[in-house]
Amino acid sequence: MTAFRFCPRCARPLEARELGGAPRHACPDVACGYVHWDNPTPVVAAVVEHEGAVILARNAAWPMKFFGLITGFLEKHDPSPDEGVLREVKEELGLDGSAANFIGHYPFPRMNQLIIAFHVPASGTIVLGEELSEFKRVDPANARYWPGGTGFALRDWLRGRGYDPQPLELPR
Ligand SMILES: [Zn+2]
Repeated sequence: MTAFRFCPRCARPLEARELGGAPRHACPDVACGYVHWDNPTPVVAAVVEHEGAVILARNAAWPMKFFGLITGFLEKHDPSPDEGVLREVKEELGLDGSAANFIGHYPFPRMNQLIIAFHVPASGTIVLGEELSEFKRVDPANARYWPGGTGFALRDWLRGRGYDPQPLELPR
């Protein structure tokens, strides 16, 4: 499965070919040499801690009522993932993060992403950015995690704080 049907360099139709031990889509023109490697995209995620609570937010584009971590694509102009996650927290919640404490990295194969997760202590007044529709405050002692992607980052951070979080039943 690929998002590209045509070579982004020379516009020839891409063809399926085995390269590096896996099926790829590549340009048939050897002189062009373009290969759509389809590498995972890095995404930064934040467990935002604000006034003693964890802030979970709902993305305006999500169809179901699900609250998750603050996430965003790492951008080319971000000097580092740490600064990228602080930028996202500022853009999406209007909060100033005082640190980006690395929690771990988590594969998210369904979206072909690699999630780089941080704990971000933050201050200020929450003003939602346009990507978010609502947020909620969760007491870390009562927080539950969703079994996948960023949910494991929340679980691992909670465990690091000495809590024993339980998994959430996801609506089907
Ligand atoms: Zn080409």
